Amino acid sequence: MKVVPTTELMYLKGVGPHRAELLAKRGLRTFDDLLGYLPFRYEDRIHFAKIRDIAPGQIYTLQAQVASGSLVRYTRARGGMYHLLVRDDTGSLPCKFFHGDYLESKLKPGQRMVLHGKAELDPNRPGRIEMINPEYELLGADDADSTEVGRIVPIYEAIGGISSRVMRRIVYQALEKFAGPMTDPLPAELLARYKFPSRRDAIQFVHFPPSTEAVAALNAFRSQAHQRLIFEEFFFYQLSVAMRKKAAQQQPGIAFRVREPAIREAIKRVLPFKPTDAQKRALAEIAADLERPVPMNRLLQGDVGSGKTIVALEAATIVIENGYQVALMAPTEILAGQHYLAARKIFSRAGYKVELLVSGVRAAEKRETLERVKSGEAQLVVGTHALLEPTVEFARLGLVIVDEQHRFGVLQRKELMDKAAAPDVLVMTATPIPRTLSLTLYGDLDISVIDQMPPGRVPIETNWRSEAHLPGVWEFLRREFAAGRQAYVVYPVIEQSKSAESQRSLKAAIVEYERLKQFVFPERKVGLLHGRMKSEEKEDVMDRFRRREIDLLVATTVIEVGVDVPNATVMVIEHAERFGLSQLHQLRGRIGRGGEKGTCIMIAPKTPGDDARLRLETMVRTTNGFEIAETDLKIRGPGEFFGTRQHGELGFHLANPLRDFDLLELARREALSLVESPAAEPARRRLLAQLPREWQRRYRLASVG
Ligand code: ADP
Ligand code: MG
Repeated sequence: MKVVPTTELMYLKGVGPHRAELLAKRGLRTFDDLLGYLPFRYEDRIHFAKIRDIAPGQIYTLQAQVASGSLVRYTRARGGMYHLLVRDDTGSLPCKFFHGDYLESKLKPGQRMVLHGKAELDPNRPGRIEMINPEYELLGADDADSTEVGRIVPIYEAIGGISSRVMRRIVYQALEKFAGPMTDPLPAELLARYKFPSRRDAIQFVHFPPSTEAVAALNAFRSQAHQRLIFEEFFFYQLSVAMRKKAAQQQPGIAFRVREPAIREAIKRVLPFKPTDAQKRALAEIAADLERPVPMNRLLQGDVGSGKTIVALEAATIVIENGYQVALMAPTEILAGQHYLAARKIFSRAGYKVELLVSGVRAAEKRETLERVKSGEAQLVVGTHALLEPTVEFARLGLVIVDEQHRFGVLQRKELMDKAAAPDVLVMTATPIPRTLSLTLYGDLDISVIDQMPPGRVPIETNWRSEAHLPGVWEFLRREFAAGRQAYVVYPVIEQSKSAESQRSLKAAIVEYERLKQFVFPERKVGLLHGRMKSEEKEDVMDRFRRREIDLLVATTVIEVGVDVPNATVMVIEHAERFGLSQLHQLRGRIGRGGEKGTCIMIAPKTPGDDARLRLETMVRTTNGFEIAETDLKIRGPGEFFGTRQHGELGFHLANPLRDFDLLELARREALSLVESPAAEPARRRLLAQLPREWQRRYRLASVG
């Protein structure tokens, strides 16, 4: 049969209904999807390292055989450690796998495998080198399979039960089957100008690069093929941003009245406290934008707890006093609920009508809410992405506020903007992004920074304790409860995992909740909050915590974003070594929000890995969000800083705005020249007309073409 880009993967050998379903869950349905699923790393499996030559501190790829293996169990509850001895023709190397129970049945003496990992000195046996948790791949009985060894091998992220190795085979086959040409969405002039390979060649290359390539350059994504694919993603993204910006500029914005005494009065009325100088400055900048007849496009940046919300609500006051509606979109239902309550309280004296729109409400109720939004009766509408649904129609939307907190892509935000002719837009974020980068990513976004904390904040004290100190920690909590305070305990997982090896020994929220409730704090009210609970259940628990009916809230990271209970002063984070630095900082931001001193206690091993140590030490040393973001960027590298999710939403598979900044700038210039010069109009139309539907959707280009 003839394979075209839209042919379904089911027709590929080795992909049965089960695997097809797993792939589809990850958005891989067609050949085109699959070929766009790119390796994240490469291994040189032509020149394997020899065990004899291994030195500590370096990363190696080895081909070896299992010499022996045994499982060592330290306690019954925790997983075992699998000790493996592998051998090549120059020597042998011990490896250790934490929670390696599953390896016992897999690894038999003589089994051939490829190992990839860092050589380290065994702390207990001077002079001995070992590998801890190396990545590995089992090899078949002979060398016949050309996708496994004897070449530079692509490493894919595993999908469900589909290992990197199996992914490699599937992709290899797909490339063989799909021999014909591929549409190339990039204009020919651009390919020529930058000497980029065709899309077909680039795709072939990044999956199975020729053996002559330098592996280091491949791993840095610096090959021409990588650069081309990265450029392509940036280019269409920038094209979309530029076209939308142009369209927005052609529409006159609303010139809100700002200076009238009645409006000043209204702002004073809603202000529950004296704003900080930084808050005043931010509001002045926003008010100036609101006054101008051009749509505002502004980022409000400030660390967790710096008081962005109140500034946003003051901006909303101006807009509402002008007779327009305001939409406030939050990334989670909990946060939307929180904003809703805060707004209702603050706006109660002004008498504004505030509505909440999330997905988990009854149909009849929702219909009524939608009706009030449509009639214009609802003045502030708070919600999640449910606000984006087509059924949500506003009578006179004047301002869109997005509480971004890392979670929304820029393009998604545009969907909300499309609900009115040219509303003003204010985005709140706690993530400091370098100015040049945000300019390039978001187009011409103006930035206001709140770089000052509200007065009376006592800095949070942060400690790092090992598990042995837990009894003392619980004792401390008891004293805080006695003084009328509340606390959080955070766990990395909801339930003990039966499958994921790496997580098997992690303490889980549900189990620990029972234990804390029954045995540690039987005299206190203990609550549980995690992501798999229904929205009403979550809301109910949060309400009770807010009303102090719960003393101790056992939670997962669902509380990371925006939860605001000033009376909660202590946070204990178990397995703190497992959390990212920004995540720890976000979590910590939940306490010390009142005038009382907050204490954050991170429970983690005394000697975690290097990165974990740096994360924990940074948390102990500073509460400065900018410093934390910078350190986090250094630790994780630009690759992960934005989080895969953010990448995905921007429409990027390969491109990384921080790492590939030069290409981003280049793509921006090229896209702008296509959009801004009237002479380029026909070329732009042609380009968009031949762009596959899928791509138009991906970059949201269809609606602006
Ligand atoms: P952010 O959204 O930036 O994380 P919030 O707007 O939620 O921060 O404010 C954090 C807490 O500080 C809230 O409880 C808020 O009521 C309070 N707050 C904000 N501004 C001030 C101020 N100027 N004076 C006193 N308290 C303030
Ligand atoms: Mg907030």
